Amino acid sequence: MDKINYNILYSKANKYLVGGVNSPVRAFIQVAENPLFVNKAYGSKIYSTDKDEYIDYIMSWGALILGHSYPKVISFVKKIVSAGTSFGLTTPFEVKLAEMICKAIPSIEKIRFTNSGTEAVMSALRLARAFTKRKKIIKFRGCYHGHYDCLLLDAGSGIATFNIATSEGVLNEFIKDTIVLEYNDVETFEKVVKQKWREIACVILEPVAANMGVILPEDKFLEKVVEFTKLYGIVLIFDEVITGFRLCYGGYQNLLGIKPDLTILGKIIGGGFPVGAYGGKREIMNLVSPLGGVYQAGTLSGNPVSITAGISVLKILKKNKYIYKLLKDKTQILVNEIIKLKKDVVVSSIGSMFTIFFRKGSVKNYNDAKKSDIKKFALFHKILRDNFILFPPSQFESCFLSYSHSRKDIDTTIKVIFKAFNKI
Ligand code: PLP
Repeated sequence: MDKINYNILYSKANKYLVGGVNSPVRAFIQVAENPLFVNKAYGSKIYSTDKDEYIDYIMSWGALILGHSYPKVISFVKKIVSAGTSFGLTTPFEVKLAEMICKAIPSIEKIRFTNSGTEAVMSALRLARAFTKRKKIIKFRGCYHGHYDCLLLDAGSGIATFNIATSEGVLNEFIKDTIVLEYNDVETFEKVVKQKWREIACVILEPVAANMGVILPEDKFLEKVVEFTKLYGIVLIFDEVITGFRLCYGGYQNLLGIKPDLTILGKIIGGGFPVGAYGGKREIMNLVSPLGGVYQAGTLSGNPVSITAGISVLKILKKNKYIYKLLKDKTQILVNEIIKLKKDVVVSSIGSMFTIFFRKGSVKNYNDAKKSDIKKFALFHKILRDNFILFPPSQFESCFLSYSHSRKDIDTTIKVIFKAFNKI
């Protein structure tokens, strides 16, 4: 493929796409850089239209656990595509992936596939409200659950990156029933639920917060959330769009030994193609149309390409569970070196996910994350990019390792980080 002139592409992108992008964080605004245009990626590497090769830690925002263009996945998908790309009817592939997920995540007895995580979240909230006949939703500051109106309040990811509390165009009517609490704050959660449980339909949370940077849940926080949702008949929704199949074969809930009422999935289960899913207890899921009165549908839901890509990834992960240990070990090498290099950052990590927060002290919630030095992060990001290491262009995102990241990639990354830390 010929080299494409960056300036021409950039100006055309800005002319025809809003802000030159189709998702805000891709504009690289927090780090005050020009966006990167890419047109191919293999393994741990992503290639810009300027033909530069980067070691990629964005990994399609966590969707690619095996790496880019993983050969077995690609050949599987090629076969499927040649037999049809969309049928608008049920395929055996959907049944297969549903079975695989239900077996891997025991709390999911039935599942419905959608096209994105946002769509799945939106549907799950509607379902929780129908099931409980209650209105209110509890979410936590800095958790991101997609761009559904009810949840665009103090959200993480792009909303945190652009430092806005909510989006214009979201009506008060849509957010007046959303209660926003601090992640890991047990006391306030307890107080609010005791007061308002009769009105609360559901509690939704990321079991590892990954959209304000990686923040781990404290045991006592999760214990209280589980205890109180059960006690007061509130639907507990785990948003595992990022953590699903990322930290083990199944949800992070498997490792925690928690069975939420509903679970949201996305990213990895689509093998790099658009997907989302919500599933959970049979008695709740049976309320979804056509069995029940909660309407939700989609022209391309269960699309054969996404679904078969997901099946092929899950099959590889299931057969080779050592991949999770390997990913964790590789990440730990990187994280430990970073901690050794610089004392005044906080490195938060779990499995193959990590964030370097540019601040001292601990990071337990959104407030703590927000105290990071964004200017330092931006400088750090630029130095890394200039040295062909690609981190997500926001302090409030997770870096992701894939199975394809090699020891050499890690060593190169450590050297560049060392150089960057010396300059800032
Ligand atoms: N939930 C979580 C935890 C996410 O990280 C995201 C996206 O990053 C979503 C939901 C929304 O998913 P999508 O971007 O597929 O709509």
